[in-house]
Amino acid sequence: MSQCPKCNGSRIVGGSFGPAHKPPVFRPAGLRSFSVTQDAGIKFVSAAASACLDCGLVWAELPIAKLSEFIRKHCRDDSQVQGEECLKCHRDRVACGKIVPDHRSTWLPAVFDPSGRQAFTFTLGGTRFTREVTACLECGFVSTFTSPAKLWQFIRNYCDRTPENAVAFEGVEPPSAWKEMWIGGIGVALIPMGYGVYCLYTRHAYFPGSRILDVRGWEAVVIGITYLALGAILHFQYFWGRHPGLYSRSSRLKQVAFLIFMAGMAYTSIRRFF
Ligand SMILES: [Zn+2]
Ligand SMILES: [Zn+2]
Repeated sequence: MSQCPKCNGSRIVGGSFGPAHKPPVFRPAGLRSFSVTQDAGIKFVSAAASACLDCGLVWAELPIAKLSEFIRKHCRDDSQVQGEECLKCHRDRVACGKIVPDHRSTWLPAVFDPSGRQAFTFTLGGTRFTREVTACLECGFVSTFTSPAKLWQFIRNYCDRTPENAVAFEGVEPPSAWKEMWIGGIGVALIPMGYGVYCLYTRHAYFPGSRILDVRGWEAVVIGITYLALGAILHFQYFWGRHPGLYSRSSRLKQVAFLIFMAGMAYTSIRRFF
């Protein structure tokens, strides 16, 4: 959909309710108290969602067959909201409920995460919903609202420009990548690298307090190299990957580091288990 179904605006950004491999569920209000269900809601087919930068509408779609079945089986008859109309099909069988994320603790609110969020943003995710979520029992259209002003700001502060969020950057520069480069590419990368150097230097690899891994000699050297490769992957990904002059070579070097890392992991697990 390239037009907002509420205000007809065309400044739409793509995003999600969480990581692509973990779609959330929609949990209708008015569940019968003794109804036992396995996932307590209807799972979205994908985590993808859209949002309008003008009115703040956030929307996605549920598989309609599963939604009707769930409502019929588990919800009280009065779970539909009166006087509310679906923005997409304009019929009036609409139920309200919640979006329950699958990937984070339930005490954290569900959010809309715009596409392109940088890895080191120090936020708990995108913008919160400002209204309860409604789902159309005729077509599966699910919608809620977020603050459009906060969404603009979030994208401009924390996201790389992507085709899905490009409208939010009209007239402004995308944020600089210093956090990704220096925190991810240097700070975080130094942790496995430091440990790798330690293993090589002392020829001893162990996890404190664990008996699973406590090796010396040649095997510790391999583990040290594996850790160095892991640090190198992070470094090439975040520092080289965002440096204007080093960018072109970053992915090939990352592949080399990845191969070394995999070889080290394979060797170590073979030695552990056989
Ligand atoms: Zn709109
Ligand atoms: Zn509808």
